[in-house]
Amino acid sequence: MTKSNDSVFRYGNGGWSTKDRATATCFCGAVQLSFPTEGEDLVATFACHCTDERKITGTMLATNFIVDDSALKHERGEERLTRFAQSKTIQSGRTMANSFCSNCGSLMYRRSSGFPGKSILRLGTVDDFTLHETKLKPQIEQFISERVSWLEPAKGIAQDEGSFFDPRKPEFGGNGV
Ligand SMILES: [Zn+2]
Ligand SMILES: [Zn+2]
Repeated sequence: MTKSNDSVFRYGNGGWSTKDRATATCFCGAVQLSFPTEGEDLVATFACHCTDERKITGTMLATNFIVDDSALKHERGEERLTRFAQSKTIQSGRTMANSFCSNCGSLMYRRSSGFPGKSILRLGTVDDFTLHETKLKPQIEQFISERVSWLEPAKGIAQDEGSFFDPRKPEFGGNGV
């Protein structure tokens, strides 16, 4: 079923999707990225309830995916991105740098000092809407301790009280401290 505005945003502004790559485009179309939709350069997909993302997205839940920078391409509009970084709101004290379309304000990706060489993209900017429900569906729901009381846990998605993607964890190369 076609929903309202579906035809405007699905593959709008020259977006595309192939077997293993797809585009993410800002609200106005000035900025377009392409990224892998499978393989190890698609590092992870997750939903996050942390208050930092609550503020920066204006929503109660952020849906994100992590891509290796070597596989992230700025198709157009990189010069239109405004970068803003701060560390005071991140619980771990790391710096999170945010890249927005300077024209329409869409947050396109975040980069953490804790995860060099990786970018955290926004699921809602992906032009192929079928990917929202398939390959890019969140695998983890994290910071559920900060989830608003009127939201239920997401169906069929692993839950984590705090930061699942904590670089201090051994599985992410840290020493556990
Ligand atoms: Zn824009
Ligand atoms: Zn978060």
